[in-house]
Amino acid sequence: MVKISENFIAQLKAVCDITSVISSYVELKSMGRNKKCLCPFHLEKTPSLVVYEETQSFYCFGCGAGGDVIIFIEKIENLNYVDAVKLLASRVGMTVPEDEQDDELSKKRERILKMNKIAAKFFFNNLRLDKGKAGLEYFYKRQILKKTIIKFGLGYAADSWNDLQNHLESKGFSCEEMFEADLVSRSTKNGNINYYDKFRNRVIFPIIDLRGNVIGFGGRVLDDSKPKYLNSSDTVVFKKSLGLYALYFAKNNRLETLILCEGYMDVIAMHQGGFTNAVATLGTALTAEQTRLMSRHAKDLVIAYDSDKAGRIAMERASKMFMDIGIKPRVLKINGAKDPDEYIKKYGAGRLKVAIDEAQSVTKTKIENMSDKYDLDDPEQKRNYINEYCAFICNMVDPLDREVYIGELCRELGLPREVISNQVNFVLNKKRKSYRKNVDREFARVSYRDKINPDSAKYPKAAKAEQGIIKFLFNNPDYADYIYNKIKPDEFITKWHKRVYEIMLDRLKLNDNFDVSAFHSVFDEDEMGRFSKIINEDSNFSNTVEVLDDYISVVKDEHEKNTENISDMTLEQIENRRKDKAKKKRW
Ligand code: ZN
Repeated sequence: MVKISENFIAQLKAVCDITSVISSYVELKSMGRNKKCLCPFHLEKTPSLVVYEETQSFYCFGCGAGGDVIIFIEKIENLNYVDAVKLLASRVGMTVPEDEQDDELSKKRERILKMNKIAAKFFFNNLRLDKGKAGLEYFYKRQILKKTIIKFGLGYAADSWNDLQNHLESKGFSCEEMFEADLVSRSTKNGNINYYDKFRNRVIFPIIDLRGNVIGFGGRVLDDSKPKYLNSSDTVVFKKSLGLYALYFAKNNRLETLILCEGYMDVIAMHQGGFTNAVATLGTALTAEQTRLMSRHAKDLVIAYDSDKAGRIAMERASKMFMDIGIKPRVLKINGAKDPDEYIKKYGAGRLKVAIDEAQSVTKTKIENMSDKYDLDDPEQKRNYINEYCAFICNMVDPLDREVYIGELCRELGLPREVISNQVNFVLNKKRKSYRKNVDREFARVSYRDKINPDSAKYPKAAKAEQGIIKFLFNNPDYADYIYNKIKPDEFITKWHKRVYEIMLDRLKLNDNFDVSAFHSVFDEDEMGRFSKIINEDSNFSNTVEVLDDYISVVKDEHEKNTENISDMTLEQIENRRKDKAKKKRW
């Protein structure tokens, strides 16, 4: 079998969002945060297939089909794994690595890079000419200095249908080639193909990769017309979802911190202000691949998005993505300006430096945003604030974090600690109890005749608890050591869950790529389906260490019950067991 690198799969998946892929086959309906549809793999009248955006996976509650985007393609196109990957890749213009040596393709890449370089120079030169006056004026109006224009190679595309096209033609490039580089667009009229410049009357931001190649362009209008930004589409040299704007300039400064901005103009203003570690995505929302790319270049990340509502939502999404890979980003809070660019102009780079140094964790920022909503002099609103704050605390995984924020809230409002502590514990206990009840009830219902994990019929309680451990580990990979120290794979009761747990621990030891796709090589289709189910199941899942500890003790108790067979034990084991039991009693 052909082996496709995990790195490539990760890149591919970063481009192939599961929702958009599935929606090209079936009609999706919104269901809370997720989407659902009629399952194409079994006959049904009411939708039971759920697409989970967050984990990039799907699961059908009717037939048990589930997995990631590649499994979906395998099943619906009836392909094997490799062919499914190839099909997905070809749809987004990516090439599976085994073909990468392909001569024709590398020639094409070379031609496009050469063309891009010529185009970038052409746009840059326009700024010195009459036809580029409007562009230069725009940059000056935005207080961009000449040296900054030169550093970033900024330029201007004239208000013309074939200015660039004529220039590239004179350099020996064909219109088809320009089209493949996405420098020209085309239309067909009466059977004739007509090519015209893609970027017209826009200031131009060349996009440069880490090797210094111009791989694409962003173009911004000079006024308020739409679309404000136009970016190159993906080509054989350009994948929007994989790169970062200005990382080329940032990477040479030994970085402690990277600052993620919303747009090109912010990045440029920040570099000009001395923050040469600012980067931005390439006109799309942040992707998982980009978060990993950033984490490879710096350990400390500051999100510097716009201060409006859209910016806040994007910030929350981005910070969750960073936390998924074990990074706790800080969030820049700017008062009195809509974005970093405006902030520098109004208050100067010095004050921005202070704001960046003082940028707080996402949690703190969220709490501040929360308190902004309430008037704390009004008793009713104060009460609502406390409720929302407590609910927020209850969702924290780590008891220590909870203690810290209980303290913060008490200090802020001048309340005795017990008041908030009691409230938080009350909510947590309630959650825990109802969760246990559900676990028992649900298991009575579904555990018999389990093909994948037959042991679960025999040990329903342990099986459910094991699932809880697996799900917790999937959501909180940084707790792997904690969990492993408390429970070893051999202590799992049901065979299949034990295997899943072992595989997860192995994966965590190896690398950072810990999503559903990482399990392709070890699970078959049915198992992938089950795995998707476990990690997505139960939106009321209580993601706290206490609940985790509950699960662990359930499994351990069952394990003990089932290994009571003393005749199989060595003397030493019997003695240890006696000590353990004695210890437990003392507690
Ligand atoms: Zn189904």
